[in-house]
Amino acid sequence: MDLYEYQARDLFAAHDVPVLPGVVAETPEDAQAAAVGLGRAVVVKAQVKTGGRGKAGGVKLAPDPDAARRRASEILGLEIKGHPVRRVLVTTATEIADEYYFSYLLDRANRTFLALASLEGGVEIEETAVTNPEALVRIPIDPLTGVGAAEAERIVSAVGLPPASAEAVQRLWTTFVAEDALLVEVNPLVRDVDGAIVALDGKVTLDDNAAYRHPGHAALRDLGAADPLEAKAQARHLNYVRLDGQVGVIGNGAGLVMSTLDVVALAGADPANFLDIGGGASAEVMANALEIVLADPGVRSVLVNVFGGITACDAVADGIVRAYALLRSRGEPVDRPVVVRLDGNRADEGRKILRVAGLPRLELVDTMDGAAARAASLASEVA
Ligand code: GDP
Ligand code: MN
Repeated sequence: MDLYEYQARDLFAAHDVPVLPGVVAETPEDAQAAAVGLGRAVVVKAQVKTGGRGKAGGVKLAPDPDAARRRASEILGLEIKGHPVRRVLVTTATEIADEYYFSYLLDRANRTFLALASLEGGVEIEETAVTNPEALVRIPIDPLTGVGAAEAERIVSAVGLPPASAEAVQRLWTTFVAEDALLVEVNPLVRDVDGAIVALDGKVTLDDNAAYRHPGHAALRDLGAADPLEAKAQARHLNYVRLDGQVGVIGNGAGLVMSTLDVVALAGADPANFLDIGGGASAEVMANALEIVLADPGVRSVLVNVFGGITACDAVADGIVRAYALLRSRGEPVDRPVVVRLDGNRADEGRKILRVAGLPRLELVDTMDGAAARAASLASEVA
């Protein structure tokens, strides 16, 4: 889960990383009131989960509360890289002396953690990585010893950061570990004209697999911005990602579902979603999957692609039959064509169950390519 800047800032503050005083506002009037409260020049910042807000006009200086209201009104009307701005963060303006880049991240390739830092902060780091790779210092962090005071000093001097930033570097590591983050990024980390070090912008990605250790993290989830179907799928523990095509896709196993999206595209149609039902395919899981896929009005046909391994195809077929009944009893019968491809463990038995059940508008196709082609053609027929 990626956090908004203001949420990252709250986590930083909770771990004593120096941040600026700030207030979140949803209306220009609230931004004005926030500026009055802060009592000095402010910066109004769009809260969207994408970088480059500054360049897109989403970060603006306001010398007084009236200007804060006007800047907020402009920024709240923006859409930045497809993200509508619903909130702004109003912070006190800083007189910046230097801007740096600093982050901790999980380095999967090297099976360790990494501190990534640069004296050239402020700009997008991807740009620096390409135009001036030497400016980016990479320091592997031993996960067992982490970043204590001595290690923080070592990092700071290796990068050439001011010695005063060692404390922030150490506390950012504490934040990274204590919150189970996959990324903690500060761009820019600044030294102001008085020599104080401040995290001016923060980006944090939390590890969803550690959510059970952090009951407080659930409140950070942005249900308002999430797709309602994705939120519903998540509540039912389904791995669902909504896309914008016409063929609904249900499969068991992320790899199989991804290749199913590819064959649907090859068949000339666009997949409407990714949905991995995982190992078990009980009637309830299948019913939930069908219900969520069919709740998307853009879906014109559904392709269920199952390869029986540990989960046998006859159990899946059974699940499909009972899912139809379950949906009928919920008052939401399956109302669009469904193409089912079963292969692998007990495929013949599974196909037989479906043939005998004679479910309305359900078709069996034995190959993945054939099933995708059939689902694509059904999707183009209707309308
Ligand atoms: P981003 O563009 O999404 O990364 O947003 P940032 O929060 O990093 O802001 C972009 C840039 O605006 C920063 O790199 C700074 O140069 C500038 N900026 C942000 N806040 C202040 C501030 O308080 N004072 C000054 N002088 N510049 C600021
Ligand atoms: Mn930034």
